[in-house]
Amino acid sequence: MATTYQNFINGTWVNGQTGETTPSTNPADLSDVVGEFQKSNAEDAKVAIAAAHGAKKAWAGTSGLARGQYLLKAASYLESHAEEFAQAITREAGKAILEARGEVGRAVALLQYYGVDGSNPVGTVVPSVNPNILLYTNRMPLGVVSLITPWNFPLAIPIWKMAPALVYGNTVVLKPASAAPLLGALIARMWAEVGLPNGVFNLVTGSGGAIGNELVSNLAVNAVSFTGSTKVGHGIAVESARQGNRYQLEMGGKNPVIVLPDADLEQAATITVSGAMKYSGQKCTATSRAIVVGGIIEEFTDLVVDKTKALKIGPGADADSIVVPVIDQASKDNIKAAVERGIRDGGNVLFGGGVPTGKIFDRGTYVQPTVITKVAPDAFVACEEIFGPVLSIIPARDYDEALQIANSVEYGLSAGVFTRSLNSAMDFANRIEAGIVKINGETAGVEPQVPFGGMKSSSTGNREQGKAAIEFFTQMKTIYMDRSAT
Ligand code: NAP
Repeated sequence: MATTYQNFINGTWVNGQTGETTPSTNPADLSDVVGEFQKSNAEDAKVAIAAAHGAKKAWAGTSGLARGQYLLKAASYLESHAEEFAQAITREAGKAILEARGEVGRAVALLQYYGVDGSNPVGTVVPSVNPNILLYTNRMPLGVVSLITPWNFPLAIPIWKMAPALVYGNTVVLKPASAAPLLGALIARMWAEVGLPNGVFNLVTGSGGAIGNELVSNLAVNAVSFTGSTKVGHGIAVESARQGNRYQLEMGGKNPVIVLPDADLEQAATITVSGAMKYSGQKCTATSRAIVVGGIIEEFTDLVVDKTKALKIGPGADADSIVVPVIDQASKDNIKAAVERGIRDGGNVLFGGGVPTGKIFDRGTYVQPTVITKVAPDAFVACEEIFGPVLSIIPARDYDEALQIANSVEYGLSAGVFTRSLNSAMDFANRIEAGIVKINGETAGVEPQVPFGGMKSSSTGNREQGKAAIEFFTQMKTIYMDRSAT
């Protein structure tokens, strides 16, 4: 019998108002029910928002230093429960265990970073034209922030939003994705264990369709930080704008690498395959297009195909699995359909394109890692986010054409170039339309102490992580203090 998890509101574990629960299953074994989660409705969201609203004044009234201490305690808690959290990520989101452990490490680093940031300066003193005036800036919390998160980084993404939100004095309501709510419940347990004051962190599980609108449009909500698909993100933007609320959207990607003739092709192929196939391409920063310049395309393609063939497909719990099951059956069907469309559009599948079958594969939602060549730059498979282990190889005559192809899609999250030329690398860094640029590096994989986010349809609003997070989670005040009257 699977464990039933409750919502966490105002420091208390509570059932949702519908009295119903929804199962979450293991993508590597669909018969394994990870847990039952509250099928919350708008009323539950209202109660959680009210709790966050009730707690916001007292929380904002504590010092950044004191708030940072809670984060540092949470970091220690997470470190001491690291393996439990990593196993939970693998079981519920299907991630390879090594990558899941990496995700936990990143969440610990984020809590430590923002924990320490609680004691950093938040404003500046500026000389006034009037020597009697002390002129300075200060940053104030926004109030109640709704955090709406996807399933693919079920620990790191909620933490990279809530760590800065909390340390800068906001209270939060987290709604994790329905496909991976377990980590949300474990995060709630973490805050309960470290004694975070009631109402500062609240968790509501349930479908975005049922509770998303309340989390965005409730009058007590001051801001929304969302990561997920572009379609849902744009709906949140419209509603937030109607409310006059601040919003931050991190959305899809169609991340390219350009391979130049002077590149180390062995290195380029290894990194491209890693970026495209790890976690079965289910990262917003995964590589999905390799744009190859000139006559190296055959050699590069052969290397990519050989390296893809060598990848072990299997459950994330096996330490040597690279290509793991995709999140659910709908995703598996979408990936298959995208590859079929790629073939109809003239693409040539050099490897993969199907689903592996047999004992372990029949239990979960696996697709083969797939390499498609002869892809037109404007074909569906080369333009739209597939969120699966599918790499399109696209030829380009020269660097300028490669850059034009790379920039031709609506997304602009992450991009890379492989070259030995400093000149090409710098030109690429300047002209590529992407928020994250890698030179001879994987499009996926970022560090938490620097800003994260994209251009064009990939992101809207302030950057996340690093020093940039304070811009979204606080509002600036400018204070003129005149001592001449005293
Ligand atoms: P999604 O379907 O957009 O869901 C994201 C979150 O939004 C989930 O919690 C979802 O709840 C919720 N939601 C759904 N409908 C909603 C509504 N009408 N109002 C408010 N919330 C609603 O995305 P996903 O499939 O979970 O994640 C994959 C996508 O995330 C990909 O496009 C990927 O590129 C993107 N992503 C981007 C980044 C980045 O930093 N740029 C990072 C990771 C992922 P339910 O689960 O209950 O539907």
